[in-house]
Amino acid sequence: MGVTVMTNSVAGKLFTIDEIMDHYDACFIGSGAGLPKFMSIDGEHLTGVYSANEFLTRINLMRAYQFPEFDTPVKRGDRVAVFGGGNVAMDAARTALRIGASEVILLYRRSLAELPARKEEVHHAQEEGVRFELCTNPVRILGDSEGRIQAVRCVRMDLCELDESGRRSPKPIVGSDFTIPVDVAIVALGTGANPIIPQSAKNLQVNKHMYIIADEESGRTSIEGVYAGGDIVTGSATVISAMGAGRKAAKAMHAYLIQKQCVGQALEYV
Ligand SMILES: Cc1cc2nc3c(=O)[nH]c(=O)nc-3n(C[C@H](O)[C@H](O)[C@H](O)COP(=O)(O)OP(=O)(O)OC[C@H]3O[C@@H](n4cnc5c(N)ncnc54)[C@H](O)[C@@H]3O)c2cc1C
Repeated sequence: MGVTVMTNSVAGKLFTIDEIMDHYDACFIGSGAGLPKFMSIDGEHLTGVYSANEFLTRINLMRAYQFPEFDTPVKRGDRVAVFGGGNVAMDAARTALRIGASEVILLYRRSLAELPARKEEVHHAQEEGVRFELCTNPVRILGDSEGRIQAVRCVRMDLCELDESGRRSPKPIVGSDFTIPVDVAIVALGTGANPIIPQSAKNLQVNKHMYIIADEESGRTSIEGVYAGGDIVTGSATVISAMGAGRKAAKAMHAYLIQKQCVGQALEYV
């Protein structure tokens, strides 16, 4: 249909949204919410600690699972800890098992009742052999003299009164610390908005979490001609809702361009 695809190009670095708008009449931003969250605990920099996004990208998109045909570097742990309790944590845990781990331990700070992953995902992870350490929180990652991960120091959690999310808030149990030896840890605590694009567009309105503010029905943003949709607007959601936002924005952009063209022609005529 004539679309030009520019690969290996980071919008916001190579060119700003303002520069794009100097050359184009409209623009759609669908940059997702792929900035991994970490816990800010000691040892997260050690070799063998991955964000779930990086781990899954290397294994799946970059085909590390097809070794030796694809020699994408990734550490294949024998004992793997996964931090988190969402669907992505389940994906990461099952993937680690499938590429050869003998034990995968999922650490989640609340109980099974609060686990945010879909029930089916939890069931399948359990069925596949993932070990769940519930009411358990990692507090430090321990490494060897070469900077490689060796173990995770954890603390047991007690569930107390309901917090603002309606879930019982976890509190560390004093003196309950223990260590789990592992050679890979995968942090699956969710993702946030990457600020590169918003920072490069002066007048683009974002909320306090750096997600772009856009009209739900049209994807219109605070800059005329600039539209946005998907995870960069809603936060991490689903493929279906991102596709829906893309379709709504396409319609609105079409109407905008037609109207702009008509106004342009009318002005030329005057
Ligand atoms: C591990 C995992 C499993 C998931 N499983 C499911 C599932 O089973 N079902 C489901 O419905 N959803 C699932 N999701 C969520 C789903 O992937 C997202 O909701 C959806 O992909 C969002 O679409 P999007 O187009 O907004 O962003 P994305 O699909 O994230 O696409 C954004 C694209 O923009 C690129 N980009 C980012 N910044 C820039 C920039 N500055 N310049 C140029 N390009 C840029 C990125 O590289 C990326 O290719 C999963 C997510 C993860 C992380």
